[in-house]
Amino acid sequence: MLNRLRWVSDDRLKGRCIELVLAQAGSAFFSSALAGVILIAAFWARVDRWVLAFWFFSYFFIASLRVWLAVVYRRAPESVNPDMWFAAYAACVFLSGFVWGVFLLLLSVNAEGAYAAVLMVTFTALLAAAVTAYSVSFPLYVCFSLPVVLPFLVSLLVVGQHMHGMVAAIILCWYLFMVSTARRFSQSAMRSLGYQYENVGLVQELEAQNERAERLAGELLVLSNTDALTGLYNRRFFNAQIEKEWLRALRTGECLSVIIVDIDNFKGFNDSLGHLEGDRCIARVAGVLKGAVREGTDFAVRYGGEEFALILANTSLGAALGLAERLRSGVEGLALPHPDSAVSKVVTASFGVAGCVPRVEDRLELFVDMADKALYRAKGLGRNAVVSAG
Ligand code: GH3
Ligand code: MG
Ligand code: MG
Repeated sequence: MLNRLRWVSDDRLKGRCIELVLAQAGSAFFSSALAGVILIAAFWARVDRWVLAFWFFSYFFIASLRVWLAVVYRRAPESVNPDMWFAAYAACVFLSGFVWGVFLLLLSVNAEGAYAAVLMVTFTALLAAAVTAYSVSFPLYVCFSLPVVLPFLVSLLVVGQHMHGMVAAIILCWYLFMVSTARRFSQSAMRSLGYQYENVGLVQELEAQNERAERLAGELLVLSNTDALTGLYNRRFFNAQIEKEWLRALRTGECLSVIIVDIDNFKGFNDSLGHLEGDRCIARVAGVLKGAVREGTDFAVRYGGEEFALILANTSLGAALGLAERLRSGVEGLALPHPDSAVSKVVTASFGVAGCVPRVEDRLELFVDMADKALYRAKGLGRNAVVSAG
């Protein structure tokens, strides 16, 4: 029956729908309890106390059931099967409708004049108020209103008098009007819930795409600054970074150093062992440089071919010379055989080092050029050497 009524067609909406049902339950309960109390006060002198006690206790019982269902859902919404929960809730709603139906029927026995009017007003108001109380779900409206209406209608028809028949017809028209209103209400509620979910879905998709784009942009930036063979930074990065460090050193008055490295007689290495072995050699030498720099403040760069550069922030010329000497012996210590070197039986490299505290009138290009010139002096001195630009 519930499936046929399809209380919510979209599974994702069920949880949200239950929350809305619960949000409306509190005020609906209190207003109908108030209506009951007023009716009891109005009929106090006319009706058997048992009838009043029936309404009071059965209403209290159903209210407890509904509170219990609300607590079960609020405590652990994920562990609740929404269809089962809704079926139980619909059963409670049906029971409260039934209690109202029986109560109104009992009060209507021999009710005339003002009493009959009070009953009619209560009756129609109850059917109208339930439209808003169950506006989220049309099946809940049916569960409530049908047991309210049916006993009264049947009793009017059973009496069979002309006036009773007229009243029954009026009630039936009113009821059908309320049913169609409730149906329209619940349809538009479901539609707006659906739109809400669509919007949330779109926003989530947009966020995911933004994240992807940011990640790709980050990856692209890394790739555009990295040398593929060695994994060191590339020349493009060097140009940008050395300028940043130069400006920083100008601001802070710290010493900036740069080392330029060139593998000795590398053409001969390539010629005798092949280009591939040459690539491996470049990568091994790069490994030595990479392992020696401080993360974040120093930068090891493949400057081009078999040439490298190191940017050393906040490093004195003396400290840079010390590091270059360690790197020189590190490259030698790799002990990569070099069959065609005028210097050694193994691969070696030469180092040109420059360091200064930049002044406004100094020029960065000249500073890098000083390191370059120092490198060529190292070559001239017989290679496998460290030379200072000082
Ligand atoms: P020097 O000691 O004066 O530096 O002599 P050198 O032979 O190292 O210098 P030269 O500039 O004459 O030769 C550099 C060689 O490095 C030439 C080129 O074939 C080689 N080379 C440049 N880039 C690469 C590369 O990516 N892979 C390989 N295998 N060789 C490269
Ligand atoms: Mg060379
Ligand atoms: Mg070279």
